[in-house]
Amino acid sequence: MARIVMKFGGTSMAGTERIRRVAGIVKRQQEAGHEVAVVVSAMAGETDRLVNFCREANALYDPAEYDVVVASGEQVTSGLLALTLQAMGCKARSWLGWQLPIKTDDAHAKARIEDFDSEALLASMAAGEIAVIPGFQGVSPDNRITTLGRGGSDTSAVAVAAAVKADRCDIYTDVDGVYTTDPRIVAKARKLPLVTYEEMLELASVGSKVLQTRSVSLAMKENVRVQVLSSFIDENAPAADTLPGTMIVSDEELEGSDMERQLITGIAADKNEAKVTLTRVPDRPGAVAAIFAPLAESNINVDMIIQNVAKDKGETDVTFTVPQADLVRAQSLLEERKEAIGYYRMIADSNVAKISVVGVGMRSHAGVASTMFKTLADRGINIIAISTSEIKVSVLIDTDETELAVRVLHTAYGLDAAA
Ligand code: ADP
Ligand code: ASP
Ligand code: MG
Repeated sequence: MARIVMKFGGTSMAGTERIRRVAGIVKRQQEAGHEVAVVVSAMAGETDRLVNFCREANALYDPAEYDVVVASGEQVTSGLLALTLQAMGCKARSWLGWQLPIKTDDAHAKARIEDFDSEALLASMAAGEIAVIPGFQGVSPDNRITTLGRGGSDTSAVAVAAAVKADRCDIYTDVDGVYTTDPRIVAKARKLPLVTYEEMLELASVGSKVLQTRSVSLAMKENVRVQVLSSFIDENAPAADTLPGTMIVSDEELEGSDMERQLITGIAADKNEAKVTLTRVPDRPGAVAAIFAPLAESNINVDMIIQNVAKDKGETDVTFTVPQADLVRAQSLLEERKEAIGYYRMIADSNVAKISVVGVGMRSHAGVASTMFKTLADRGINIIAISTSEIKVSVLIDTDETELAVRVLHTAYGLDAAA
């Protein structure tokens, strides 16, 4: 017998019929003799719909009230899955974030899990009850509802798995594993049987939304065995216990396997960033700090930053990217400080995409970046900004060129599946 945490994403939970299929998968896992807890997302499109309501109500919405609204999607699906399981003769009940409780900090809309009391959950599972937990939500120190950032149900699932010391955390989604790039963009993408935590962390952080970044760092820290697999399967599909999906593994586990190492593991695209340029910023100590300190205080993550060399008159342009969801707030913070910072104009542009190539093989190989630049140049794709880490190279380009860029890079690094 094993203890398994199963997570189902939005597409898997979209409607009664699909929830019935999910209930069938859960029931089969329990019948295989396992103790199970299930974490669910809101129905596909529901969280977007709720976010739009918040925007319409107040463009500069209070994140605490936003959380009250957007957390409701998962409340609906957790209750519906418990009802469906009961209809199939299983013992099941829902556990909302505040009932467990899943304690987070108070960074509304992007809260971090700080503490998770697993006692009630373990008792319920030991009694043969299927625990159904809405993903994405938690409770702040002052007892307000919080959410964990978009895609946060993955993190809820890994946190539950760590807390109950699960043997495995199965993330069921609408693709059957992690691929060399989004299989919806590149038909020739290849499924990877194994990916290391570190590679998955980079891939997730640069836009492979198959797993939320924090879920991967948590799994790495807590040693949770994570499998990504499809929920769109029939009764004859190989059981989850035979590991049909992609396993996220340590470096040692990968080295011990017979999987051939590629220089590049995968390519990711992120269309959710926006570019902000402040022109004619005074070129003196403290000017850049004056721009980024208020953004940091408001929990706005700045990613790529370029500061041009001062031309004349001791002035320089500063360009950076922020998540599109934070753009309005970032603009408003910088507008308020226009005089204090001393810039001339602020230009914002959401029509950008960040394309990244990731692979631990890059550590020992030169030329990955130059292949990227040359491949894009050959297609006439202009690079607006560049950033690198030890195992990643990212470029910012025009959003219209995203699909083309990913496709040509996938071919250039030899990742295409054989026809
Ligand atoms: P869920 O609703 O189940 O959480 P998501 O939409 O968050 O699902 O994540 C699954 C999607 O991630 C897939 O449909 C696919 O389009 C996308 N994706 C992006 N990059 C990859 C990749 N490298 N491998 C697999 N899927 C990817
Ligand atoms: N429903 C939330 C979202 O769409 C959380 C999740 O699905 O993981 O971001
Ligand atoms: Mg997701």
